[in-house]
Amino acid sequence: MEQRYYQAGVETMPREELRKLQNEKLRKQVEHVYRSVPYYRALMDEKGLTPGDIGGVEDLYKLPFLSKSDLRETYPYGMLAVPLSDCVRIHSTSGTTGKRVIAYYTQHDIDLWEECCARAIVAAGGSKDDVVQVCYGYGLFTGGSGLHGGAHKVGALTLPMSSGNTDRQIQFMMDLKSTIICCTPSYAAYIGETLREKGYKPSDNTLKAGIFGAEPWTEEMRRDIEKSLGIKAYDIYGLTETSGPGVAFECSEQHGMHINEDHFVAEIIDPDTGEVLPDGEKGELVFTSLDKEAFPLLRYRTRDICVLDRTPCPCGRTHVRMAKPMGRSDDMLIIRGVNVFPSQIETVLINEGYAPNYRIEVDRVNNSDTLDVFVELSPDQFSDTVGAITTMEKKLSAAITGILGIHPTVHLVAPKSIERSEGKAKRVVDKRKLHD
Ligand code: ADP
Ligand code: ZN
Repeated sequence: MEQRYYQAGVETMPREELRKLQNEKLRKQVEHVYRSVPYYRALMDEKGLTPGDIGGVEDLYKLPFLSKSDLRETYPYGMLAVPLSDCVRIHSTSGTTGKRVIAYYTQHDIDLWEECCARAIVAAGGSKDDVVQVCYGYGLFTGGSGLHGGAHKVGALTLPMSSGNTDRQIQFMMDLKSTIICCTPSYAAYIGETLREKGYKPSDNTLKAGIFGAEPWTEEMRRDIEKSLGIKAYDIYGLTETSGPGVAFECSEQHGMHINEDHFVAEIIDPDTGEVLPDGEKGELVFTSLDKEAFPLLRYRTRDICVLDRTPCPCGRTHVRMAKPMGRSDDMLIIRGVNVFPSQIETVLINEGYAPNYRIEVDRVNNSDTLDVFVELSPDQFSDTVGAITTMEKKLSAAITGILGIHPTVHLVAPKSIERSEGKAKRVVDKRKLHD
């Protein structure tokens, strides 16, 4: 396949040159932050550091970390590194794991972010000839604006649908002949399901690719969406604190997401000790923004658990790849002492022939943790006898036990009884927190 890039120069820059560029930008950025953000200057002073101590990426480990709690503490403007009058936009996290934090952008920051999204769209085969249907939410959430801006930069015809109103999404998709769709994977699955219910075959739409992110999703879920929409599904990653989606994106190889390293330096650390881990080891992803002006976070701890891959990619891009994060350290459930990621359960469900409509409930009864998995049946499966369904429940429960090492109670429930998601899916209810 012929490779196309949005910014070939930086995307395929030889590593040595890229490192030089990063070093140069990092030195300037540390100086900028030290000068403009008293909160971070105090953290550096505490460690006896001055900007002169950071000569390049190899000195990054010396700098203090930032985490969500720092952003909450400095809310709203304690991290601002330019006069507020130089900012043109504010976004905020979805608040998936607590109080929202806000991020601010200068026009330069918006351009940089949109260019990252444009790289993702081009990597997924997009060009000015495409019709890009953006059904991430618009508003404070970064998903809609990011992909919207990226599609504009590419020169594609952009449909700013926002999320929801699935009937209208489908009508516009068909009438306006959308070729690329951008949303959360859970919403993509829902749109696929709705298309099927309306009697459309996957070949009835003109979509060729989808760019899905903002929440964890499995390879099994990817295949499911690709089948139901008749497309190639690409992953995109980002977080509000670093701009939004587009920090990393998949190329045609689909073997990890290229991190836009001319703007962000990635490290993997041991989440318990903060120690930087060698390449190839799994740990918490930490980002340093190299050239954002208004909200330039240094060594920001994402809490996302993943692995970096520095082997060269056949697509020609030289930027490091990150594996699909399978959940944040704070999505991880500890059930009867065993670490469980919801994505592990999703993998089993889809492999066992169920649709990715499920809810996980954890509780504590008589001092012992309980795990209940509610999984929706298809109308066909639902017409089976009670006996047959009980057998299916036992089989699925055994399959999950095989992967997790702990025994869940599986409940197969009626079609459509589990709420669909138009944005980030909420699949876990941890009732133990209510008792604490
Ligand atoms: P919140 O932290 O409130 O969810 P954001 O909207 O900024 O706010 O979400 C960023 C987070 O979403 C990331 O830290 C990561 O956990 C998750 N995320 C984003 N893209 C992906 C992806 N492609 N795969 C897995 N998780 C993702
Ligand atoms: Zn690649």
